[in-house]
Amino acid sequence: MLAKYQVATIEGDGIGPEVCQAAVLVLKEALGEGIVSFDDFPGGATHYVKSGQVLPPDTFEACKNAHAMLHGAAGLPNVTYPDGTEVGNDLHLQLRFKLDLYANVRPIRLYQADFSPLKNRRAGDIDYVIVRENTEGLYASRGAGVLLRGEVATDTLVLTRKGCERIARFAFDLSRKRNGAPSDHKRRITVCDKANILRSYAFFRSVCDDVAKDYPDVSIDYSYVDAMTVHLVKRPEFYDVIVAENLFGDIISDLGAATVGGMGIAPSGELGDHHGLFQGAHGSAPDIAGQNIASPLATILSGSFMLQWLGDRHADPRLTEASQRVDRAVELTLAQGKTIPRDLGGLASCTEMTQAICRNLK
Ligand code: ATP
Ligand code: MG
Repeated sequence: MLAKYQVATIEGDGIGPEVCQAAVLVLKEALGEGIVSFDDFPGGATHYVKSGQVLPPDTFEACKNAHAMLHGAAGLPNVTYPDGTEVGNDLHLQLRFKLDLYANVRPIRLYQADFSPLKNRRAGDIDYVIVRENTEGLYASRGAGVLLRGEVATDTLVLTRKGCERIARFAFDLSRKRNGAPSDHKRRITVCDKANILRSYAFFRSVCDDVAKDYPDVSIDYSYVDAMTVHLVKRPEFYDVIVAENLFGDIISDLGAATVGGMGIAPSGELGDHHGLFQGAHGSAPDIAGQNIASPLATILSGSFMLQWLGDRHADPRLTEASQRVDRAVELTLAQGKTIPRDLGGLASCTEMTQAICRNLK
């Protein structure tokens, strides 16, 4: 029987295969038969070394035609193209631009107080989402910066009205989705910028203000990125949805992840209007690959995020319920305190984590 939804997986490099397989096991267990099929395709730096292709055409077609993508991680040190540039994360960069995945969504949530380096935080205190613009900003300069006579280097920050508007709308819509009633005081967008210094950020802020007129039920406030790094440490409980330009979003996402336990528990989704790619926020961590010690939590939580996104998109409660089951199983496993991954101070292997979460699925 053909499953109703197809998910294209790319296990990728380093710890990618371990954590991706772990997430697929958990999701299959939560979903049961016939709803979602998972099919794996080659891609990434390891595959490039073997075949000369980072994103083979068949893999791209499968990703494009799938209902969603769930990936391990991509990129390895010292793998370069013939011109000497690093292959790095090119797999995801290509998918990001070809499929226009303009919103990089990073939920930041504290599962256990002792995972946080911050004092006096309880589980659930930290619960916000960073929406990072994924296609322009300072990273638009990637590979196009200029070095003049070995003396002066420049990169260009590019923000378009279309790019700012769609990321702002995405953030406002997300705040509505996250918070039930229109009167819910938590509906809030925080615009992270540097509007006092750079014109492009002032423009970003003004476009967010324009979009805010369509969302009278969601409040809007602003924070300069430097102040934001302080607030995310001092009063993270304040935030609901933070929207930021590409570079700033990248930086504050890692900071946010650190406040709840680090990269091993940080999920992400790269979303466009037609496609969604989900993977842990971490890289391929080659230093711990193949040892069964990586934490699969980030990828499992990304898988749950994927089911929630698919459930909303297709108005299919089976997907939403399976997503909630996975979240509850992760919460329960961590609260039981017996099976904790190494990066969070425990001893559990990748397989032990996966098995414990599967057992706790209800
Ligand atoms: P990228 O450039 O792809 O973002 P990075 O250089 O930032 O990669 P990561 O691969 O994200 O680095 O990981 C940094 C370190 O964090 C790793 O070397 C590893 O020790 C640790 N780490 C990352 N992910 C995990 C995980 N899932 N479980 C345990 N440790 C992890
Ligand atoms: Mg990184």
